[in-house]
Amino acid sequence: MKNIGVYIHVPFCSSKCPYCDFYSHPAGEEELDRYTEAVRCSLKTFSSTEKLMADTLYFGGGTPGLIGTERIKSIVSAADERFGFAPGCEITAELNPSAADTDFFRLADAGVNRISVGLQSANDDELAFLGRKHRSDQAKSFIQGAKTVFDNISLDLMIALPGQTKEKLRRSVQFCIDSGAAHISAYILKIEPGTVFYRKKDSLDLPGEDETAELYEYLCDILKKNGYDHYEISNFCRKGYESRHNLKYWHDEEYLGFGPSAHSFYLGKRYYIPGNMEKFFRGEIVPDGDGGSSDEFIMLALRLSEGLTEERYSDVFGTGIPEKIRARARKYIAPGLVRVTPEGISLTEKGFMVSNAIIAELLM
Ligand code: SF4
Repeated sequence: MKNIGVYIHVPFCSSKCPYCDFYSHPAGEEELDRYTEAVRCSLKTFSSTEKLMADTLYFGGGTPGLIGTERIKSIVSAADERFGFAPGCEITAELNPSAADTDFFRLADAGVNRISVGLQSANDDELAFLGRKHRSDQAKSFIQGAKTVFDNISLDLMIALPGQTKEKLRRSVQFCIDSGAAHISAYILKIEPGTVFYRKKDSLDLPGEDETAELYEYLCDILKKNGYDHYEISNFCRKGYESRHNLKYWHDEEYLGFGPSAHSFYLGKRYYIPGNMEKFFRGEIVPDGDGGSSDEFIMLALRLSEGLTEERYSDVFGTGIPEKIRARARKYIAPGLVRVTPEGISLTEKGFMVSNAIIAELLM
């Protein structure tokens, strides 16, 4: 029996946020039903020669809450029917605070035991800039309602917004802490091609690299002082509340994705379902090459504070971390960007800010 992560992409949003390049669109009841049936069917007919059991199930989007609790429940039961759930299986649903009518009790009854809330900011002007439908007082009551049912709540924040001062960032971070969030994800705003922000990027007045680094370090500092463990470049949690599903990605472990634009990594192969409803309904799958190489493993592991450990590397590849990687990493010890110990290699908080450049250098 092998444990595996299962990801369900829910490609629906009531409108498009100007920074978002995820596959999503508005949909009526008929399309939601057709989608739900197709996901259930693809789960139940997934074929593998080995016995698999889901130990994480993640509803991402899009806005999973938009399909409603009954459809979520029916997808959870299809996943259970096909794979079965390992004891304590983590079942996450991403939710938006603008969905004031979310019935948290029914969501928990559907099997969900962790929610991830797209807060993004606690400052109303920033929320308006990001095109979010909610305002901070609405987010506050949404989270208070969720807390009556869930103790494992993750909040998303966005940093490096135009005009974001430390004070504004402090307000958002404090909001998360005061809300009792078990987990916080803080992403730097990136301007992705094809988005509304991309078309007007020259007029956005985004903070420069130095200002961004200052905001990031400030956020890390506040969260550390308040007992959050900085366990991945963009992720922080109270002890024991790491996202077990996302850890699978960073540990380069296998997962199966269902729904349009969902990616999978299974038996050494990567593949994805096209971000297109009709192609999804037709069952199209696009191969995306081999996965699980040493370079890929190293690149993903270095996103984590624990870094690249000898133990994990040798478990997977049967040998120690290559000496050339250790030698290249040592160059970054003096500027305080990397730690190299007998147990492995990891980036410091300062190193996280330039992780792409360091990882590229280590793997060249
Ligand atoms: S709600 Fe989320 S997925 Fe939907 S458009 Fe906004 S950022 Fe994208």
